[in-house]
Amino acid sequence: MRKNIVAGNWKMNKLFDEGLELATQIKELLNNEPLPCEVIILPSFIHLPCMVDAMEGSVIKIGAQNCSDKAAGAYTGEVSAAMIKSTGASYVIVGHSERRQYYGETSAMLKNKVEMVLANNLTPIFCFGEMLREREENRHFSVVKAQIEESLFSLPAEDFARLVLAYEPVWAIGTGKTATAGQAQEMHAFVRAAIAAKYNATIADNTSILYGGSCNPSNARELFLQPDVDGGLIGGSALVANDFVSIIKAFL
Ligand code: PEP
Repeated sequence: MRKNIVAGNWKMNKLFDEGLELATQIKELLNNEPLPCEVIILPSFIHLPCMVDAMEGSVIKIGAQNCSDKAAGAYTGEVSAAMIKSTGASYVIVGHSERRQYYGETSAMLKNKVEMVLANNLTPIFCFGEMLREREENRHFSVVKAQIEESLFSLPAEDFARLVLAYEPVWAIGTGKTATAGQAQEMHAFVRAAIAAKYNATIADNTSILYGGSCNPSNARELFLQPDVDGGLIGGSALVANDFVSIIKAFL
């Protein structure tokens, strides 16, 4: 059975103390009650080890927002998947559209990153999604298919089965313009069918596919009710403890 997941991508926000404070607020609001989904916080690298310690014993898992496509060595400023693993974190976002757009990350680099993450026994949250122009030109399905094929479809089935996917239409990220529940469902079903065609129906059915893009407490429930939407990757609303917790509770 695939998991429902709500993951908060903090991006480049929160100083050291502010981050710990926000995570602690979220933990206290969740109050260790049984939850309808897995909860992940993805802060910046500086927070990882302390955040793992602070969330120990709670339902909250910790992950990173990026990692190097190289294993180790003379790559100034990079952080390897092995380093992330050594902090106790368990997830890594790979291929967020901000990394693709602003840092020139290509499908080939993302393929290497996914392999690094898996080799270090971490779970990749692989992001993909079309730009506004691509949707307007009715190319969103082919763009998404190419992103997935180029970075993921050379994985053996047992490795693909360890991924979490996140559909994040670029025009919806940080813009306040959410995809409609129908648009999200249509793309998630398309991706699930592509996985079934490449691997098999069981792997497709067991893959968690999250939606990301201006998801907030008012629209989360309708999005999460869609049969192929297994939760959300949340940006702006993950920075406000009450909003993030309301989104988690949208599953209830
Ligand atoms: C994101 O950055 O992954 C994201 C979904 O951002 P926002 O929720 O702010 O659109």
